Amino acid sequence: MKIKSYELFQVPPRWLFLKIETDEGITGWGEPVIEGKAATVKAAVDELMEYLLGKDPMHIEDHWNVMYRAGFYRGGPILMSAIAGIDQALWDIKGKYYNAPVYQLLGGLARDKMKVYSWIGGDRPAEVGAAARKMAEQGFLAVKMNATEELQYIDSYEKIDAAIQRIAAVRDAGGPGMGIGIDFHGRVHKPMAKILAKELEPFRPMFIEEPVLPENNEDLREIAQHVAIPIATGERMFSKWQFKTLLKDGYADIIQPDVSHAGGITECKKIISMAEAFDVAAAPHCPLGPIALAACLQVDATCHNAFIQEQSLGIHYNQGSDLLDYLTDKTVFQYRDGYVDIPSQPGLGIEINETHVRKMAAEGHNWRNPVWRHTDGSVAEW
Ligand SMILES: [Mg+2]
Repeated sequence: MKIKSYELFQVPPRWLFLKIETDEGITGWGEPVIEGKAATVKAAVDELMEYLLGKDPMHIEDHWNVMYRAGFYRGGPILMSAIAGIDQALWDIKGKYYNAPVYQLLGGLARDKMKVYSWIGGDRPAEVGAAARKMAEQGFLAVKMNATEELQYIDSYEKIDAAIQRIAAVRDAGGPGMGIGIDFHGRVHKPMAKILAKELEPFRPMFIEEPVLPENNEDLREIAQHVAIPIATGERMFSKWQFKTLLKDGYADIIQPDVSHAGGITECKKIISMAEAFDVAAAPHCPLGPIALAACLQVDATCHNAFIQEQSLGIHYNQGSDLLDYLTDKTVFQYRDGYVDIPSQPGLGIEINETHVRKMAAEGHNWRNPVWRHTDGSVAEW
């Protein structure tokens, strides 16, 4: 079998889909994207696909190593997302060739179904209590929310109080059993992260996420010793070599590699398995589209330490187009009692509605995250 051609589709709300075709009529889909830089990743996929055209799609491990190692320069969000989407499409092809879901080729199921969580409250969290109640009514066992808006290195306790009130409302609405993920989004610098984390402790969060920016991961030590809340991070880390340092340091409890950002199925399976040896859990990042989610679930299914999956249905970014819109069979992501079944059809286990993809690609998107500034005009982390 040979890779014959490929196509890229920049589709709303902010995604990029890749379709790889083979000379045997088997096609594979991937989602190579970094939010806000879809066109840049697209250019990187074009460069990488030059090598892959005419090659046997089955040699995934070798292709991965060529894409990663043989370009001399490596790593980072753009290149690793480009590799990720291509890798997903190659696994989709392999699964379809063997008439098996990807999880079978990775060793088989470690679980029957996967717990999922839903986003509430948007970028500037508000009305989260009512939103949490709605999610609980829909059967979700866990939600995630942003902790705060922008926060200065040293900021007011009013903002801390406001954050605590919102989280109290979520705990109140969701009850003691609801898992609450609280995303600091790298918006919080170390001095305020310590304070905020300490104040959150009584509400028993499921985890705090990116309490500091990944480039400041050494600060996790102080936070980990300061509070008894699981610390999650990793959506802005892109390879096993980056995760190696995090795991060796020992202050993260949950890693969140993104299967569309961190080298795809091939790399994320290795990253998560590496974490298992450190007794660290995994909650793969996925505020993206249906191909990315399917790829996550194929990996989750085979990883003992994967405990919950992010998914984007109804997320604040999905304006106008949502997770299920590009699927022929939307029941594949039907959530029941807080869980989703592992897609069991061949390959990634989903069927893409290509007619809809083509229609929406003609519309396209130019999604960018907002630029935030503090009151004094300095740039704030978003
Ligand atoms: Mg996050």
